[in-house]
Amino acid sequence: MRKLTATKIVSTLGPASNNEDMIRKLYRAGVTMFRINSSHGDMETHKKTLDIIRKVEKEEKTIIPVLLDLQGPKIRVGKLEEPIKITSGEVLKFRHQQDYVDGIIPVDYEGIAKDVTPGEKILIDDGKIQLTVEKIEGDIVFAKVLTSGEIKPRKGLNIPGGTGSIDILTDSDRKYVEFAMANDIDYLGLSFVRNKEDLLKLREILCKNGSHLRIISKIEKPQAIENIDDIIEHSDGIMVARGDLGIEIQTEMLPIAQKTIIKKANIARKPVIVATQMLESMTENPIPTRAETSDVANAIVDGADAVMLSGETAMGKYPVEAVTVMEKIAEEINASQFIRKNEFVQHLSSCTNGIPKAIALSVADALRNLPGVKGVVTLTATGYTSALMSECRPSVPIYSLCSDFKVCRAMQLYSNVCSVIVDKSIGHDMNIDDNSLVMLDEFLKKGLKMQPGDIVLVTGSIPHLMSGESTNFLKIHTVSNN
Ligand code: PEP
Repeated sequence: MRKLTATKIVSTLGPASNNEDMIRKLYRAGVTMFRINSSHGDMETHKKTLDIIRKVEKEEKTIIPVLLDLQGPKIRVGKLEEPIKITSGEVLKFRHQQDYVDGIIPVDYEGIAKDVTPGEKILIDDGKIQLTVEKIEGDIVFAKVLTSGEIKPRKGLNIPGGTGSIDILTDSDRKYVEFAMANDIDYLGLSFVRNKEDLLKLREILCKNGSHLRIISKIEKPQAIENIDDIIEHSDGIMVARGDLGIEIQTEMLPIAQKTIIKKANIARKPVIVATQMLESMTENPIPTRAETSDVANAIVDGADAVMLSGETAMGKYPVEAVTVMEKIAEEINASQFIRKNEFVQHLSSCTNGIPKAIALSVADALRNLPGVKGVVTLTATGYTSALMSECRPSVPIYSLCSDFKVCRAMQLYSNVCSVIVDKSIGHDMNIDDNSLVMLDEFLKKGLKMQPGDIVLVTGSIPHLMSGESTNFLKIHTVSNN
């Protein structure tokens, strides 16, 4: 079994890494989940990448979730023959069109003139160029330049105010949703979510098709922050997508947004990923900056389940080094006094009764009082118990035993969870009788390499979901000598 670090690492694949050798190296260096970004590349390449991940997963005898990130309604400047030089104070014209004609800058967003209002900001090229909307005449938006520079073709354009008329799923996204449902993807990343209705649109497509796919909402718009409680409630995971979020809100508000989103996701017990520019300088250099090292560690202290690498592993010069550095930072900070351990302090909003909460408190209490415990073993069908235990931030690994491979994959994203595929008779269908306990004991020795005398905390729901009960038992088990 590979070294277990509580914090999970998400690695984006791209030209620098979407080959078998690299995917294997990245996995061995500490990657938990791979991310395929539909904003770049084509479907054929993504299918090949996915097939390689599945081959590596099989050969390494492991469980690797894959996140397919939908591009979403990313707005871009249209075609320009050459960059346009602009100066502060100048008023520019924008319209939904393909090419630069009559001195009007093309934008690929149909609703631009309908959705923006005077006084609103328009930001181009990662916020390097800032404008304020002056007026709208017909289908033309007039905006005053605040920062001089150059507008280059196809650069990203952000409108932090209103993008109300824009459809959350583009035609390309819909094709990628079909692709994800037809292939072996685990999580879908939904970009530019504004509210729960956006999310439910995707959920409806998945439900109609009986798909198991889980949705990670990417928080990158101010409207998503306003509606964060609703969005978290209806998502299976959250990403603090700091790239676009850092453009759409004031940069000084980004740390506060990050901490708030993580805390809320923790309370709702949804896995949360912190993304973008975590080790950005490692795209070019073999070592990170001091600020980047602290950024990764601080995201973990904030409560992130996972930290993500984007360009660093997709197109950087040092993909394996970036994962290795991230893994080491995660290992050190997780071992430090700054990480909450063995306590269940959040109220669990999804608990329908107090029994799971009582079990979680008991697990935390046992871990504080029994220093020799080797692990928490969860017998789970849906992943509920494993998610609950993850929220206790135990000082030992959570071995999440499940007979459903899809659930196993999804649970890997949660802090400290190590998924293990088992037969139902050891998992949630186990009875509490002498025979089953002998079987479990055998499994702990053979499957998890536990030694006689080792103590584990076994928890789950037995009999499974009978009379609506979820997590309802805790056994403090000493591995036998036999
Ligand atoms: C982000 O904006 O931070 C992000 C992760 O999304 P993308 O990589 O699709 O821009």
